[in-house]
Amino acid sequence: MNIADQALVKKINQELLLNQILSHSPISRAKLSEITGLNKSTVSAQVNTLIEKQLIFEIGQGQSRGGRKPVMLVFNKNAGYSIGLDLGVDYINGILTDLEGNILQDCYHDLNELAPEKALEILFSIIKGFLNQLPDSPYGLTGIGVCVPGLVDNNHIVFTPNSYWSQFELQSLLQQEFNVPIFIENEANAGAYGEKKFGSASNFNNLIYVSISTGIGVGIIINNELYKGINGFSGEMGHMTIDFNGPKCSCGNRGCWELYASEKALFKSLKHRVSYQEITNLVQQNDVDTLSSLQNFGFNLGIGLTSILNTFNTEAVILRNHIIETQPIVLNSIKNTVSSRVYPQLNYQYELIVSSLGKNAPALGASSIVIENFLDIVKV
Ligand SMILES: [Zn+2]
Repeated sequence: MNIADQALVKKINQELLLNQILSHSPISRAKLSEITGLNKSTVSAQVNTLIEKQLIFEIGQGQSRGGRKPVMLVFNKNAGYSIGLDLGVDYINGILTDLEGNILQDCYHDLNELAPEKALEILFSIIKGFLNQLPDSPYGLTGIGVCVPGLVDNNHIVFTPNSYWSQFELQSLLQQEFNVPIFIENEANAGAYGEKKFGSASNFNNLIYVSISTGIGVGIIINNELYKGINGFSGEMGHMTIDFNGPKCSCGNRGCWELYASEKALFKSLKHRVSYQEITNLVQQNDVDTLSSLQNFGFNLGIGLTSILNTFNTEAVILRNHIIETQPIVLNSIKNTVSSRVYPQLNYQYELIVSSLGKNAPALGASSIVIENFLDIVKV
């Protein structure tokens, strides 16, 4: 083998071992050898490299049937840190995580109707705030992951129909200021990834994640991989046509699904902008208008979700929206609509579930993209 091939084999072996340590930690060298099929000297050599790189460390002693007790290996989740940022239409949600995706700090900022430059300043100040609190570690900040609702192609924001984020070259702006790897992803893709890695979707290989806020975005995971489309534009299902004579949409089309089934559409039907808390109060008071608006919100969502299930035949659809997560009447209405309209053979084959990560799903997905990149380049 030439030197390049040897380096590649080492890298592949380290990846194999690190993945096993990540999922089975604490684990012994002997067990690693047994699971991976790598011989003991290879395991020992690569484990030593991972220890030198401070990605793993040894702890006390594990269980053993007689003889010397083995030393156990643990992933060093504090070897470095990652920042995930969800740039919404009217908010920024930021988190600082360790390398296992545990949230150490979070920061939520309402943008209301702030000028774009002001919003950018807030974004920078959130990151600086996290950096000031960063614990000492071998690798420090390993990168920043950002997600936005809109079209994102290879870390470049192409179009954000409901916000102004596309007017900034965010990747280079952040790169210049913070000098770490910067990743930019579509918000629904990041949310799907977050749920797959850390949330309700971890047991599903094929799933659709639907983010419902000002618009509707869809993240598609097929055979455990994000399906992004050739330009990264897949999942713009908020803009599938529900009514071909319907009102004009910001995307240029007419009668798009999100004009009827987004949170914005729900608020419009409630006649005046109310807070989440006020919706809860009105539901508790059995307010007829509120209940029928929520019922209708579920119905409109169910119409589009039926087409999605008929198209993808996935095991699960994960719904991310605060009102759906807190008001069961909406999920019931969605389920009734879908089960009465979906291709009958698909019934009982899918699960409709709410996000378990809530508002942090996209930021966690963005952070996890950073972590995976870091673990990939730090080996060998
Ligand atoms: Zn549209």
